[in-house]
Amino acid sequence: MVSVTPSASKPNTAQGRFSLRSYLDRWVARGDMPTTVTSTLNAVHDDELEAFLRNLGVAAAFRAGKLKCAFCGTVITFVNLYSVFADSGSVKFACDETECVKALASKIANRAA
Ligand SMILES: [Zn+2]
Repeated sequence: MVSVTPSASKPNTAQGRFSLRSYLDRWVARGDMPTTVTSTLNAVHDDELEAFLRNLGVAAAFRAGKLKCAFCGTVITFVNLYSVFADSGSVKFACDETECVKALASKIANRAA
């Protein structure tokens, strides 16, 4: 499956840490969504996730518990968010249930084929 693996090129500078926000800014600006932003999100601080969701325009829905897993319908939270991916031009979420992780992987594999 395609994954985005951030790498900090200059770890000794304040800007060295991978910034999901700037990454997403570029993503949104280009209108060129990566296939998926995978579990690396789990290592992102909540503030970054908040910014990420705000950039996608779904922060309010997330806080209201209105974002659901595209596969099983479970409400997405900070705890169970496994992946954010683009599907048919809209943003979808996957929870970390084994079945959903598998479903996401096969979905991505099918699209890449
Ligand atoms: Zn799910």
